[in-house]
Amino acid sequence: MECTFCQIVSGKTPTHFLFQNDKVVVFKDINPHAPVHLLVVPKKHIRSINDLNDDEREIVSEMIMTAKQMAKKMAVHKSGYRLFFNVERGGGQIIFHLHLHLIGGW
Ligand code: AMP
Ligand code: ZN
Repeated sequence: MECTFCQIVSGKTPTHFLFQNDKVVVFKDINPHAPVHLLVVPKKHIRSINDLNDDEREIVSEMIMTAKQMAKKMAVHKSGYRLFFNVERGGGQIIFHLHLHLIGGW
């Protein structure tokens, strides 16, 4: 079976994107852990932080800069928020397609 997030990126699983550009998409986490819980996901399939190559630096910076913009768009930038990556099973990763969590709005 194809990767869950690749299916979302390709549109095979219809999902509302709060933002997208040539490198990333942003959508709401299906099981939110805070009033605001977004996932910033690269369009390119990369398994985890461990699998990043040197030529993928631009993707990582795009993810972080997008998260910053989304925090402002969701109006949690002043109250504060958390950005995190879960890495592999011991780190809590369950979807093996790189993603940055943005949570806040408590
Ligand atoms: P992680 O534990 O870092 O791999 O996080 C994966 C996240 O993806 C979890 O917080 C899930 O709730 C979320 N998730 C799984 N499937 C979907 C989906 N179809 N749409 C939105 N979020 C999802
Ligand atoms: Zn994927």
